[in-house]
Amino acid sequence: MDYKKLREEMVKKQLIPRGINDRKILDAFLKVERERFVPLSSRRDAYRDFPLSIGEGQTISQPYMVALMTQCLELTGSEKVLEIGTGSGYQTAILALLSRQVYSVERIPSLAERAKKLLSEMGYSNVRIFVGDGSMGLKEYSPYERILVTAGAGDIPPPLIEQLDEEGIMVIPVGDVYSQELIVAKKQKGKILKRKVERCVFVPLIGKYGWEGRID
Ligand code: SAH
Repeated sequence: MDYKKLREEMVKKQLIPRGINDRKILDAFLKVERERFVPLSSRRDAYRDFPLSIGEGQTISQPYMVALMTQCLELTGSEKVLEIGTGSGYQTAILALLSRQVYSVERIPSLAERAKKLLSEMGYSNVRIFVGDGSMGLKEYSPYERILVTAGAGDIPPPLIEQLDEEGIMVIPVGDVYSQELIVAKKQKGKILKRKVERCVFVPLIGKYGWEGRID
């Protein structure tokens, strides 16, 4: 498989025509080897235009959705970013290339471990991965200039609003368990201004301020 060619095609056919036009973001997608983040058995599909299963009932998001969420974050390179839902770690790698420091929280220990190992093997030194309920954020290192939630919530978890810095941007899918709307929330003078981007489907955010109100 010529993965470099598949990456180029993904950028040309899936991202640019749908409005992903930030050169730095496109370069990050040309660089990160997405095939390393999916199970061996689905490597051939790593660059296809849909999400893939990564085990534990979870998914690696569709490339376009990762790119759209990244573009909505308006990263300049200097930010401290909080990501909720590490999953495969692919989005984490993209964020690591475009920001100063990434803190990522995953509730399933086996996924967190795998992502941690892979990202360190790949040489990402500005990433820290934590196991826990990300619906409560990660207070210890707050405030964050950017927050990205990659699982669907019923509403924005209040701790995330608290941990978002003034003038900060949060991107989060909000809706019901089966479908959501991607929301961009900006914090200005302590208030949250929300904008809807587009419909999307994510696995549910499970936790105190997510669905089920508990951690398994
Ligand atoms: N960005 C990831 C998406 C993974 S799917 C990728 O592209 O690979 C969403 C992830 O959110 C799953 O791994 C799921 O286990 C995790 N998740 C769900 N609820 C969570 C919570 N409360 N805290 C942290 N992670 C959570």
